[in-house]
Amino acid sequence: MAKKEFIRDLKVDLLSSGVRISTEDKGRKGGAGPAGSKNIIIEDTVANVPTFAQFVANSPYTLDIDGDKGVLKRFNERITDVKIPQPRFYKLQTREGIPYNKIALLHGADCLATTVVQHCVYWDTPLRCKFCGIELSKGSTLDIKRPEDIAEVAEAAKRLDDVKHVTLTIGTLKESNEVEILGECVAAIKEIAKIPVHVQFEPLKDLKQMEDLYAKGVDTVGIHVESFDKEILKNVAPAKAKIGFDRYLKALKYAVNVFGENQVSSFIIIGLGESDESVIEGCKTLAEMGVYPFVVPISPIPGSYMEDAVPPSSERMKKIYESVASILNRENLSWKKNKAGCVRCRACSALDVFE
Ligand code: SF4
Repeated sequence: MAKKEFIRDLKVDLLSSGVRISTEDKGRKGGAGPAGSKNIIIEDTVANVPTFAQFVANSPYTLDIDGDKGVLKRFNERITDVKIPQPRFYKLQTREGIPYNKIALLHGADCLATTVVQHCVYWDTPLRCKFCGIELSKGSTLDIKRPEDIAEVAEAAKRLDDVKHVTLTIGTLKESNEVEILGECVAAIKEIAKIPVHVQFEPLKDLKQMEDLYAKGVDTVGIHVESFDKEILKNVAPAKAKIGFDRYLKALKYAVNVFGENQVSSFIIIGLGESDESVIEGCKTLAEMGVYPFVVPISPIPGSYMEDAVPPSSERMKKIYESVASILNRENLSWKKNKAGCVRCRACSALDVFE
C-alpha cells in the first residue's frame, strides 16, 4: 500500500479504535474538546487519539512512549514510529504561580487551546449536551482564565513550541456575554502573541456582534451544528435543538460574510445514530455556503453522559470522509486555506488526509 494511503487509513482507524497506552501516558482525562485522548504526530498529519474511553480496551493498537518518541503497534507488531508533542511551555508558570498548563493546552501539533470559562448554564439541567465534558476537568485547569494570562501563555507557546494559532471556546453563560469575554481574550492574544485566533460560540442573538469579534482580531469562527438529524439533536443536545437549524444557517451565513469563505466551520459528529445521507446532504449545504463541515467521529469523554458510546467503524468513517472531501474539493474549501482553529489543527478529524 502506498505510504499516503497507509497514513490515511491509519488515522481513520486510530480515531475510531483508540490506542491502548500505559496509565501515566494516557493524556488529559476530562474537559471540553478533545479530552480522554493523546496527540500523536504521524508523518505529516496529527491525530487526537482516544485513550481513556471504555471502547479503547478492544483496540488492536498499542503505543509505547519514550519521551517525545512513540512506537505504534497493531496486534503487538510495530507498524510505524510516531512523535508525541512535549510542550516546553507546560513547565512555566505565571508570576502568581499558576502553571501555564492550567491556563491553556497544546492541541494537535501547533494549536494552543483553552475553554475560557468552564461553566455552562445547561450543565446541571436536562438540557446539557450529552457528549460534553466542559465542567469535568475543573481542578486540573482554571475554571475562569484571564485574558492577560492566556495571552502570556500564547506568547510563550509560540516562542518555545512553535505554536501557530489559538482556539478559544466557552460554555453558554447566563448573561450571554460570551462574545464580550472571547473578544477581550482575542485582543490580548493579538497584542502580545500576534498569532491567528479561532473562537467558537452558539448562534448569536445579535449577529452584528461578529463584526466586533472581527474588529478585535478574530480570524476564524466555529458555530457547531453537531448533527443534521433533528430528532437526534433533540435527544443528544436539546439546548442546541431548541435554537433550530435555521438560526444556525443564518449565523453561519453571516459569519462567512464577516470572516470569509473557508474561515467558518461547524463540527459534525458522526456516531449519534444519524444516517450517512443526512451527513452528506448537510455537509453539502454548509460547503456550498463556504462553511467547512468539520466531520468527526464521536469521541466519548469519560464522565460525560455518553462515556459508554462507541465511535463509528473506520469503514463507515472512510466512506463519509471520501464523500465530504469530494464536496470540499468541488467548493474549493481546504484545511490548508483555513487560518486558525480546529480545521487548521485537524487532529480530531481525518478529513485533511482525504482532501
Ligand atoms: S481539532 Fe480542535 S478540538 Fe481537536 S485537537 Fe485540534 S483544536 Fe483541539
